[in-house]
Amino acid sequence: MSDTSASRTADTRTARTTTGEDEVIIGLEVHCQLDTKTKLFCGCSTDYRDDGPNTHVCPICLGLPGTLPRVNKLAVEYAIKVAKALNCEILEESEFSRKNYFYPDLDKGYQITQYDKPLAVGGWLEIESDEGGEKLVRITRVHMEEDPGRLVHKGGSDRPKYTLVDYNRAGIPLIEMVTEPDLRSPKEARKFLNKLRATLEYLRVFDSEKEGSLRVDANISIQPKGYFDAHGKGMKERGRVEIKNISSYKGAEKGLTFEITRQKSMIRRGQKLETETRHFVEARGVTTASRSKEMEQDYRYFPEPDLRPLQVRFWCDRILLPELPDARRARFMTQYGCSLDHARTLTGELRLAEFYEKVSSVDAALAATWVADTLLGELNYRDMSIVTVNPDQFIALLTMLRDRSITDKSGVEVLRNLLDQLKDSGCCESPEVCVTRLNLTKAEGEGLSGVIEEVIAEHPRAVADYAEGKKEAFNFLVGHVMRKTRGRVDPVELNRALKERLEGV
Ligand SMILES: [Zn+2]
Repeated sequence: MSDTSASRTADTRTARTTTGEDEVIIGLEVHCQLDTKTKLFCGCSTDYRDDGPNTHVCPICLGLPGTLPRVNKLAVEYAIKVAKALNCEILEESEFSRKNYFYPDLDKGYQITQYDKPLAVGGWLEIESDEGGEKLVRITRVHMEEDPGRLVHKGGSDRPKYTLVDYNRAGIPLIEMVTEPDLRSPKEARKFLNKLRATLEYLRVFDSEKEGSLRVDANISIQPKGYFDAHGKGMKERGRVEIKNISSYKGAEKGLTFEITRQKSMIRRGQKLETETRHFVEARGVTTASRSKEMEQDYRYFPEPDLRPLQVRFWCDRILLPELPDARRARFMTQYGCSLDHARTLTGELRLAEFYEKVSSVDAALAATWVADTLLGELNYRDMSIVTVNPDQFIALLTMLRDRSITDKSGVEVLRNLLDQLKDSGCCESPEVCVTRLNLTKAEGEGLSGVIEEVIAEHPRAVADYAEGKKEAFNFLVGHVMRKTRGRVDPVELNRALKERLEGV
């Protein structure tokens, strides 16, 4: 008995010291849908949103015998843009391969993807690290592939009664981007995904609003510090978990956070971490072990005989990139005088950056604060997107704030009112109408002096205290004026007017 408890204590002690020196190692595989009008190898439309199942199919994307795929040139151009934007080396020759496996979402029996000759290798993307500085996340490779079809399980995915297959997605062009295990926390993973999304949006090759437009597989392990040797090679101590099919940015952060807690508690208890595949259950925010132990599958890759290798290098130089998030961030700082934080936030999403540029004409600094701090916060709170906000209305609100015809506090009240209306009914009144309706026009001039007189008359004691040099009496009177006007007073103006009035007493 005593032996066991002694060894248990010793175990706990060693386990604790190890955990203290551990670090989290995360690598991502991100699949994004390239926003082309037609599929990767046929002319079927990719916009199936309002249509019934299996209405966007043809003999090619169904892989019927005797058909020949043809590469969608625009999809390749989009993929090259992505590879260039991710600072990758685009290979002289890349090739499509067949990945053979049997599954109902793949009626051909193989998926056309890229294997040993991907489009591009060896790039990087800059993100803000957890410590606040900039950090480069290395990109291992970028390749193109077609999406398989979609399975619809009837009667719940746990024990479906039967399963339907929809091939509308079969053949949709995807780009897969694989990172080196350079990320150190779920937050960094989310920052990477946000930056990647922004980059793809700036390139105009991606529509994040489309169903299934982004999927992430994440590799995560907790290793003793110093996991990488001088050459960047990993020395694995513990097993690595692959979390499959995460479909949102928030999901990635949540799934990884859960996995860290789970792995850390296993390490603490001295349990062995096996390399395994787990599924993320978005609704519950947990990962669960795959029911069947996924075997290391042999996909029998071989070059796709129906497609010639792609020779794209000559073409690359002619494909020009638009202004990307980093460049726009730098421009916002020089052109509009934005702080680094504001510039980073405002350029973090293409539509937000465009919105800011539209409304910045009123006053660049005022607009930066109101868009990056106030508006974004209110939108997030309501789970609304920036596209719902009309820039002209926001300009009207900013103008009233700049001219100080309403106070900051009233500005927030108007904004909240308008956003609530937008959320409820899809439209809203003008900011001017809202100000009048809520009676938020600023109390100033005679209006303000009237209120000051009332407050002075109601609190002779405080006035007398002030005259005797008790400074806190002043704040007491300010508070009462604020309360009476429901904050419709410019604090600086109030301080000045009240002081003048009291000193004159
Ligand atoms: Zn087709």
